[in-house]
Order: sequence, then structure tokens, then C-alpha cells
Amino acid sequence: KPQNERQRLPVVPQGIERDEFLKALAELKEQLGQENVEINDKPLKDGWYMEHPNTHDMMTILDEEEFVASAIVYPGSTEEVQQIVLWANKYRIPIFPISMGRNLGYGGAAPRVRGSVTIDLGKRMNKILDINAEDYTCLVEPGVSFYALYEAIKERGLEDHMWIDTPDLGGGSIIGNTVDRGVGYTPYGDHWACHSGLEVVLPTGEVIRTGMGALPGNNTWQAFPYGFGPFSDGIFSQSNFGIVTKMGMTLMPNPGGHEAFMYTFPKEEDLAPLIDIIRPLRISNILENVAQLRHVTQALAARGRPRTEFYSGSGPMPSEAVHAAAAKTPVGDHAWAYYGMSYGPPQVRAHKLALVDAAFRRIPGARRIDPSTLPADEYFWARDRVARGVPDIHELRWVNWQPNGAHIAFSPVSPIRGADAARLFALGKEAHERYGIDFFPAFCVGLREMHLIVEIVFDRADAGQRKAALACLRDMVDEAAKLGYGEYRTHLVLMDQVAGTYNWNDGALMKFNERLKDALDPQGILAPGRCGIWPKRYRGRGWEM
Ligand code: ADP
Repeated sequence: KPQNERQRLPVVPQGIERDEFLKALAELKEQLGQENVEINDKPLKDGWYMEHPNTHDMMTILDEEEFVASAIVYPGSTEEVQQIVLWANKYRIPIFPISMGRNLGYGGAAPRVRGSVTIDLGKRMNKILDINAEDYTCLVEPGVSFYALYEAIKERGLEDHMWIDTPDLGGGSIIGNTVDRGVGYTPYGDHWACHSGLEVVLPTGEVIRTGMGALPGNNTWQAFPYGFGPFSDGIFSQSNFGIVTKMGMTLMPNPGGHEAFMYTFPKEEDLAPLIDIIRPLRISNILENVAQLRHVTQALAARGRPRTEFYSGSGPMPSEAVHAAAAKTPVGDHAWAYYGMSYGPPQVRAHKLALVDAAFRRIPGARRIDPSTLPADEYFWARDRVARGVPDIHELRWVNWQPNGAHIAFSPVSPIRGADAARLFALGKEAHERYGIDFFPAFCVGLREMHLIVEIVFDRADAGQRKAALACLRDMVDEAAKLGYGEYRTHLVLMDQVAGTYNWNDGALMKFNERLKDALDPQGILAPGRCGIWPKRYRGRGWEM
């Protein structure tokens, strides 16, 4: 048999004998059908974004066998998800739900605990259950990607009527991205804030519907997120308290026009005054979407060429080399590029864009780039598509910066303040220099906060690069926490560390999360360790990393 067909011994979840595990799997096969239970006994194949594996983290920063599933199961309905949960409780087998597993940079499809059984919800549960053109809402299952929803809206002839919001990469699951609190780039970019209504299978097998979904016969599940009583949805995002099988999402009315724009700013030191200029514009919605301020090194990498084409030395590519290479590109060699979008009919846009122009030009040397000068494959046009809800994958190109390119993110949040931006920029730059890594900062400006997204691109076949990337990340998390900054989301490998930084009042929040975990999941079967939350059975036994 060819190499990639040959078998490898599957990992067995800790605490269960191999024979008993295989017997348990056979029982699950009887319930779900042979074809819906797959043992992970083939060599691990990495694939790429659109053909990603569901067996492990294809961008692993540790040994490939670390975050790896023992088996993958494919439920076809909420009832089958319940059956799987009951089965896991019976045998005390850790299960790890994913929607589509395209959570690139944060662990992909991989489980936190080695040998977990991955529940790949998206493969068979991929229906768009409703698109409501009057209320501008939809109801989806875990396997519905941003691309799929976009296509469905087009097929129904509604693309001039309503928009979706897509993150940088459109191939992921709407539910997966939303429960992990991912963001997009239209005014509806805060996905979690824009969802309305969940259906959740609890770790003990019961199903609940949140918000108005709890009221039989309601027609407001997707229109009013709260219903009555405690707003429970929050405990099902970035947690391990339930498996989301349906979610409502709001859709944006077509604003009647749009215009992408771009400015560049010459010097690294322009960052702080620029962020202070952006803040009032963003909070008052003159800047209407999560807009991005990207460093020239990343803009250069976004061209999709390997770094060796520009520089052959080791260590971070020197600033002069970056600027020399960037000078030959259509957007030039300025230190920062701002990508924005203005919405509405021309007269409305003209007013807002004039305000933005006057404000941005207070930075000496600021340049407005005329989009008509930019070639069709310029990164600007990918930002244009994403900011009007058209799914895209151009963003992947900077992964080519290294051979076997993989990436992992450091993503702290801060207020939209120049001083905070400068502190985080300096912290990241120093850490990258310490470990000889190119620094790719991008500030994503929300409404009253900004996420700094620093993607480390590394060669996943190079153990030294993996080690340096991880050490750099760990330093940045700790140093940021000392200054009072925390991450909005993180990779599996950093979850314990990041959770540990949210430790006010002797770790009171984690103690509360652990109490919820033990109450909702007494056997500790659902995604143990996800977001640093360990069930009782695992706590204090050396699982943290
Ligand atoms: P995407 O397909 O958008 O990339 P994933 O399916 O990888 O998203 O989801 C990201 C993470 O969110 C997963 O690793 C998992 O921990 C969690 N998650 C995703 N979907 C669900 C779900 N339906 N229920 C509970 N947790 C989920």
C-alpha cells in the first residue's frame, strides 16, 4: 500500500484500555452507522486550508502526535449528538466538538486532550434551516460555512438585499467562528454580538434552546437574543459547557453602496498618533467597520512570495530590506497601511470620507492610495471583498513566507489608544527580535477596543522554528499580562497560560468556571481543558501546559 494508506496505531484516550475503547467504538458504529465512525489510524496528512484534516492540528507547533484525535464521528442530527454524548459518559471518553475545524492558527480541528474522539458536526449537519429576508436573519447548522451562506443568498436572488459578514478566511463554519468569538469586517463584524439564539446539547445529553427558543411556537428566536431570565448564551462560547447544534445569525441590509479606501503612513512612530486619530472616528461610526492597520512587513508577505525572494539572511528581515522590497510594490514602502470601507450611497460616503481624509492627513506624509492604480490581485481588493461580506481566502498568502508555512497568533486586546498600541508594538517587536522571527502586527479596530493580531509564520518541518515561535508567544503572553493586557482568543497550546492571566481575586473567575463545569459535566467528558477549563477528574494531574 502507498505510504499514506498504511496504518498507524491509533491513540487511545487515557484511562481506558485499548480493547475496551475499540469495543465502545464498535457500539457507536452500530448506533451511527459504520461510515460515521472513523478510527484515526492512518498517517497524519496535513493538506491545506480547503482540504484540511480533521484528525490533528495541521499547523502544529508541538509534535504532530500531541493534539491528535483517536477517532472522528459524524453525527447527522441533534439526536445523534445526544447519543454520542451519552456514549461518552458511559465509557468516560473525552469528546471534542468541532464545526468544520478551519480554526487555523488556533488549533484547527485538533482536540486539546490527546486521544479525544472528535465530533465533526459539520460534515453531515450542514443545512441552512432558514433565511428570513424580512427580518434579515438566518438559522444555521454547524457545517454551514461563510461561503455556503453567501452562495445560498445569491441563489435566492437576495444578494442585493442582504449581506453576510465574513472573517478573513471564508471557508470556516459560521457557528465555529462565532462560538470562538471570531470577527469579520462589515459593521456586523462582532459575530458573537450579532448571533441570536442557540440550540445546545449539554454534556449530560439534554438539549436546550436559549433566548426566545425556549418558548414553544415563538417566531422571535432570531430577532430577540435574550428571552427571559439569565442570558445563558455566554457560557457556550469559548468554553466546554455544551455542543451548539443550531445558531441564529443576523444579516445586514445592503447599505446602498460601498467604497473601499486605503491610506499609508510613512513611519513606525506614526502608530500612536494615528491610533488616537482613529479612536473618535471609530467610536462615532465615521469609520464603520473593523478596520485594519497593517505593518509593511506583513503587507509584503501578503503578496504570497517566500521571504527568501527578498532576503537570504537569518533572523528578522532588516527594516531596510523590507522597505526596499516594499518600495517596488504598488502600495509603496510606508510603515503602515490602513484598509477601510465606507458604506452607503455616494453623498453619505463623501461626507464620511472627507472627515477621514482630513483626520488622516494630520499624519505628515500620509498618502491616500487611489484604488484604480492597483492591479486586480492586489491585497487591497481582498480587503474590499471581505468588507462587503464576500468570502475570500487571499489572506492565506502570507503563509508562503516560510516553507511548510504554518501560523499561530498572539492576539491581545486594548483600548484604542496610541499609548497602548505603542506599548504592545514595542513588546511584540522586542520578543520577535529575541527569537529571530519576522514581526507581522496588524491592529484590528473594533468599536471601543482593538485586537492586535500578531501572526507568527513558521516552518512546521523545522523543530527549531517551532520552538522559537512557542517561546516567543509564551513571553509575549506573560509580558502583556504584566502590563494589564489579555488575549481575546488563543491556540490550544496557550489556553492554560492565557486563562491563568485572568486571575483577579485569587483566580475567582476560573473557580466559577470550574464550578459550572463540574455541575454541567460531572464526568468531565466534554472538551477537557478547552480554554483552560479542566473538569474535576483532570484537575491538578499534570494536564496543564
Ligand atoms: P471553523 O470551522 O469556523 O474554523 P471550528 O469548527 O474549528 O471553526 O471551531 C473552532 C472551535 O470552537 C473548535 O475547536 C471548538 O472547540 C469550538 N466549537 C466549534 N463548533 C462548536 C460547536 N458547534 N459546539 C461547541 N463548540 C464548538
